[in-house]
Amino acid sequence: MADSKEVASRVLTGEAEAPKETCKGSTSTPAEGGTDSKEFEGAIGGMRDPSKINEEEDSDEEEDDYEDDLDDDDIEDEDDGEDHEGFMSMLQNFIMSKLDLSGHGEVEKVLEEVSVEGVVKYIKSGQCKNIITMAGAGISTSAGIPDFRSPGTGLYNNLEKYNLPFPEAIFDIDFFKSNPKPFFVLARDLYPGAFNPTPSHWFIRLLHEKGLLLRHYTQNIDTLEHVAGLPAEKVVEAHGTFRTSHCIACHKEYSQEWMKEEIFKDNIPSCTECSGLVKPDIVFFRENLPTRFFHLMQSDFPKCDLLLIMGTSLTVQPFAMLINNVPSSCPRLLINREKAGTVDPMMAMLQGMLSSSGSGLALDSPRNTRDVALLGDCDDGCVKLVDMLDWKEDFEKLLTSSKKDDKAE
Ligand SMILES: [Zn+2]
Repeated sequence: MADSKEVASRVLTGEAEAPKETCKGSTSTPAEGGTDSKEFEGAIGGMRDPSKINEEEDSDEEEDDYEDDLDDDDIEDEDDGEDHEGFMSMLQNFIMSKLDLSGHGEVEKVLEEVSVEGVVKYIKSGQCKNIITMAGAGISTSAGIPDFRSPGTGLYNNLEKYNLPFPEAIFDIDFFKSNPKPFFVLARDLYPGAFNPTPSHWFIRLLHEKGLLLRHYTQNIDTLEHVAGLPAEKVVEAHGTFRTSHCIACHKEYSQEWMKEEIFKDNIPSCTECSGLVKPDIVFFRENLPTRFFHLMQSDFPKCDLLLIMGTSLTVQPFAMLINNVPSSCPRLLINREKAGTVDPMMAMLQGMLSSSGSGLALDSPRNTRDVALLGDCDDGCVKLVDMLDWKEDFEKLLTSSKKDDKAE
């Protein structure tokens, strides 16, 4: 099917792509079609072509046979082997959950009632101890970080300023190699540190303080989780980070301080060893996701007892697919402006035969026993939860302490 991913990849490359994307695209659950801009998501907008995330960094190898990649399970083969393993395992879980007929109508019911109140009761009961949060651009928009997905904002209005042929070029690794300037101009405009965490970030921090947070998975690259004081080991930055940088030629690592200085001097950062380009470790189109993402998601999601999906429309894979990797009884709460990640029409057709687990959020299904949507602004949703959980005092304390820190600086 000519889904939006294909369209997006054609936009990016100017041509139809290798057979890989058909394979990966077919695993997509919640894609809603629509415009290709929808496919691009992340704190600074159009981050990535989701069909490219597992591909070789070097576009010269685009012609690689996908079969070869699959057969290559040599884990010593650096990131690639591991990423493919991780991806295949995720794919396997996804398919297994789809084919699992045993749970038909017998899934353990965790929530007393399938509602926000039910989720709050569940958290208060003390039975839930391993919350995973999955976040997208929506948790950072109130910080003032533009969401470039929306035409009429950000890059779409500033193609001339950034000297871009099309918005997504700014995160295209090949474009970057040939013309890195636009990226560094944007990086300067959006440099982490110029923004403050939002109530959503503080809510996640509070979950951690309460000892309830197993892990926070984010698609954002704005590092606001860290600014909000979440320990690094609790955060998985699925689309990379500005905190470290590497030379794209010799892979020498550079610190955030070094990169910041280069960016603010309007330099094109180049390697002190080999003069290669130095790039912040955010994931561009055609680059692999961080190995840490694949490692941790395999051990984290089976342990999850409450999944909070925050400020993401769940259109970017493989991130979006993670919602299916929690146990089939695990409640999932979506806090977002609109419904997302729901069962796609194809899947809905098969619902009669297949278990509802594993095919996206069952928000509108009569058989829904665990999926809840708290629709509206993500910050409002988090504040509402804080109220309902009677955590207001602790929440205020966190906010106040952060303001004190600001003054001290
Ligand atoms: Zn180098």
